[in-house]
Amino acid sequence: MSEELRIVVSMALGIAWCLWVGISWFRHRPRLAIANNQPVFAYASQTGHARAAAQTHTNSYNNALLIPLNKLTPQHYSLATEMHFFVSTYGEGEAPDNGHGFIQSLNSINQDIIQSLKFTVTALGDSRYPAFCAFGKQVYQQLTHIGAQPLSDIRFIDANAKKTADKLLGFTTAKLIKRTHLNPDSEHPGLYQLHLDAKNLTWKPGDILEVLPPEKGKYGAPRSYSIASAASDLHNDQLTLLVRLHITPDGNQGLASRFLTQTCREGASLTVKVRANPSCQLTETNTPLLLIGAGSGLAGLLGHIEQRSLTANAGPIWLIYGERDPECDHHLATDIAHWQQQKVLSRVDRVFSRQNGAEKYVQDVLLEQPQAIKAFLKQHGDIYVCGNLAGMGKAVHHALTQILGQSALESLTASGRYHRDLY
Ligand SMILES: Cc1cc2nc3c(=O)[nH]c(=O)nc-3n(C[C@H](O)[C@H](O)[C@H](O)COP(=O)(O)OP(=O)(O)OC[C@H]3O[C@@H](n4cnc5c(N)ncnc54)[C@H](O)[C@@H]3O)c2cc1C
Repeated sequence: MSEELRIVVSMALGIAWCLWVGISWFRHRPRLAIANNQPVFAYASQTGHARAAAQTHTNSYNNALLIPLNKLTPQHYSLATEMHFFVSTYGEGEAPDNGHGFIQSLNSINQDIIQSLKFTVTALGDSRYPAFCAFGKQVYQQLTHIGAQPLSDIRFIDANAKKTADKLLGFTTAKLIKRTHLNPDSEHPGLYQLHLDAKNLTWKPGDILEVLPPEKGKYGAPRSYSIASAASDLHNDQLTLLVRLHITPDGNQGLASRFLTQTCREGASLTVKVRANPSCQLTETNTPLLLIGAGSGLAGLLGHIEQRSLTANAGPIWLIYGERDPECDHHLATDIAHWQQQKVLSRVDRVFSRQNGAEKYVQDVLLEQPQAIKAFLKQHGDIYVCGNLAGMGKAVHHALTQILGQSALESLTASGRYHRDLY
């Protein structure tokens, strides 16, 4: 092939690639604009439950709009025929990240529009927690208080009260192919990597796998696990999880984690379902990505790392990961070193909370180098935090607030660039 022909062919390939990226972005772009007389289903969802419930209800309309709460504009209120709010409660009674600022935002809507607004509220929660559906109740009360017209009383969906038949809806099976104990020398509860044959499933990194644990011949309530592998279409039907054996306050092993890490044999089938979690999916792959996690939270981070390792022109990743003991918790070190060599990970800070004289937590890494964090995120970067909410998620949130400032962090949240997969 002559040099000129080679240049023409590579230019044509370049243009075709750009067109393909543009078309696929256009086809998958979130549709947030409203047409006249459209019913609106607005959700506030941290882990995808409320979004899934809202989406199921849109099926009875042929023109419903599904939208996160923080993307509503005054236009939605004035053009919608009716609005249906599906809202979860997060942490100790707080709004999920994509519901932040919603209550205050109602003050900016014209009073006449509010008074002609017809709405319902469906609140999702778990009645074993004291702040059961607190945010849903607040949304219902505030809308009623400012004069909007409820079409019905507030409706509750209680995770603690699901009937067996409802529990099985949408579930399928996946075979456990292989299980590896990642920290066999540790005196602390084991962390296990599970590979499932998941032909029946489609997922993206950031999504959650729900598992129904067997309990006395029936099924217990589903438990959620962050999917730890790249998207299903890139991944040969294999889905990976990282599961920590959970020890309950009375010293027993938790139902689902015991099943997954101890009693379920390789080759046996699990009853599972993927729950899409768009607030933890990443739409851009060529921007910087700051990944922060601890313990089993590595699961959610691994999916995004692997996705970028299989993507051309992926942006840099800075991984900040915390574990307990440097002697026995060095799991997946080979994979991480490989990704560093391949330049998939541009920087790795691995810290340990039980290291004689050098204990460190992930939030310490952030606070030690605020300028480096700011500079890394400057090029339109995303932040992704995965793991325990009380132990790590709050401390990391606090550190990021100190480094970036509250309003910058709020605007990252509003623009969907601060993702939190916390439990
Ligand atoms: C979004 C998300 C992602 C997660 N990702 C991971 C992960 O990647 N790796 C990991 O190891 N863990 C993860 N977890 C934690 C995991 O879901 C389990 O809580 C953990 O494995 C302990 O479950 P268990 O059944 O062993 O313990 P158990 O003590 O038996 O149950 C733990 C929890 O299950 C729920 N539960 C128990 N009984 C009922 C009931 N009757 N009705 C309704 N709910 C009930 C409650 O929330 C309870 O606190 C995640 C949790 C969430 C919410």
